Amino acid sequence: MRVLHVAAEAYPLLKTGGLADVVAALPAAQRARGGHVRVLLPGFPAMLAGVADLRTVASLGPAFGAGRIDLLLGSMPDSGVPVYVIDAPFLYDRPGNPYLAPDGGNWADNHLRFALLGWTAAQLAGGRLDPDWQAQVLHCHDWHAALAPAYLAARPGPRPPTVFTIHNLAYQGLFDASVFSSLALPQHFFHLSGLEFHGQVSFLKAGLVHAQRITTVSPTYAREILEAAQGEGLDGMIRQRAAVLSGILNGVDPQVWNPATDLALTANYTQDDRAGKARCKADLQAKLGLDVEPGAALLAVVSRLTHQKGLDLVLDSLDAILAQGAQLAVLGSGDPHLEQAFAGACRAHAGRVAVHLGYDELLAHRMVAGADLLLVPSRFEPCGLTQLYALRYGTLPLVRRVGGLADTVVDAEADAMASGRATGFVFEPATVAGFQHALQRSLEAWRHPALWQRLIGQAMAQDFSWTGAASQYDLLYQEVCRA
Ligand code: ADP
Repeated sequence: MRVLHVAAEAYPLLKTGGLADVVAALPAAQRARGGHVRVLLPGFPAMLAGVADLRTVASLGPAFGAGRIDLLLGSMPDSGVPVYVIDAPFLYDRPGNPYLAPDGGNWADNHLRFALLGWTAAQLAGGRLDPDWQAQVLHCHDWHAALAPAYLAARPGPRPPTVFTIHNLAYQGLFDASVFSSLALPQHFFHLSGLEFHGQVSFLKAGLVHAQRITTVSPTYAREILEAAQGEGLDGMIRQRAAVLSGILNGVDPQVWNPATDLALTANYTQDDRAGKARCKADLQAKLGLDVEPGAALLAVVSRLTHQKGLDLVLDSLDAILAQGAQLAVLGSGDPHLEQAFAGACRAHAGRVAVHLGYDELLAHRMVAGADLLLVPSRFEPCGLTQLYALRYGTLPLVRRVGGLADTVVDAEADAMASGRATGFVFEPATVAGFQHALQRSLEAWRHPALWQRLIGQAMAQDFSWTGAASQYDLLYQEVCRA
């Protein structure tokens, strides 16, 4: 099957969150299964610098304010998956974060920057740009790519079916109504049952309305977004499309996240020989300026610092963590208030709390390997990847029972312990008391090394491979092509 994935980020070229991991790993897994898969990305500087063997296949401009627009084709540095890159310097040649200007606000022309992505995807998938390759299915990821199904719907004639995957419903690509006229879409698309959302233009709604199939990145999240609590104001609209909505769980890329081969680690280890994990912990404690104590449970957070991630519960539980002799290590960036609060905790508790503000891929690997527990107390979580990485690295996840976290971590309660299914600690209410109850149980387990090792063994035995997800997407593509 020939599939074109369209997205704004892809690891290792450019990553701000889990989306990039998925856009790298899913096409690679599909290719390994014999799929003829390609990816389309905006030509941010990191894409142009990182994609191998780029050559021009078409010229597109002018459009969306950009004079020169070239469509280039190369391949992903790791997997060799073919990648189209839209080279439009006027819109994309900007340093730093792909969405935010240096002042921290959105780029004022983001509607044009991501309209170009969707528009090019529609041209390419419709077979107009690359005579050598035509997609049978167009697979769009998140709001950045969500206009593509609308551009296809606006075109007469045959067109490939589209799949739209929601990686996070909270990010919708909302713009002032005045931008609609610059998107080159028919005026009647700006309507309650189209792209209009409370008087604004919603890119995400374009995907929800015009794609033939909608997926989210876990089965539980697919159910949750049908209700007001997690529906972000779109649950009514999503319920209307419930018949074409499904959840497919993300996987782990074993080339990138594997404790047996991970070059970022001081020592490698496997499920059967875990000696290296203790060395990773000691090394991490030393590197972060924590007291090097093998007996102190090391709790880690590797996360964007946003309200979604529920890390205020961790901050409010700091005394309880420290009172039980545990340590806390945080790697993250985001909300300035959360950044300041964690930095303050670090200053106040030298040797017991370490905080690294910023984005650091290498340190993320070292923390996932060296910690004993990974904290993911999210208010909502479409899938969550860090808990999957933690399981694979034998670091027990402590998570809230929500979204993909609920689908991937089995709480260490009596039944699950007895049947050997337990892999972590799960709590329900998003409250300090709820979090601390799970914390208490996890630190209790920590004090019983044999029990703890059994849990690590069960966690490391989990198999969240991309192969399973890739075969589910294949089935979906086949269905959508038959429809
Ligand atoms: P989200 O996509 O909501 O941010 P996920 O758990 O799905 O959450 O994916 C987060 C990804 O980003 C993981 O690969 C995680 O390791 C990585 N990550 C998050 N914060 C940082 C950071 N500060 N430094 C390095 N990697 C990070």
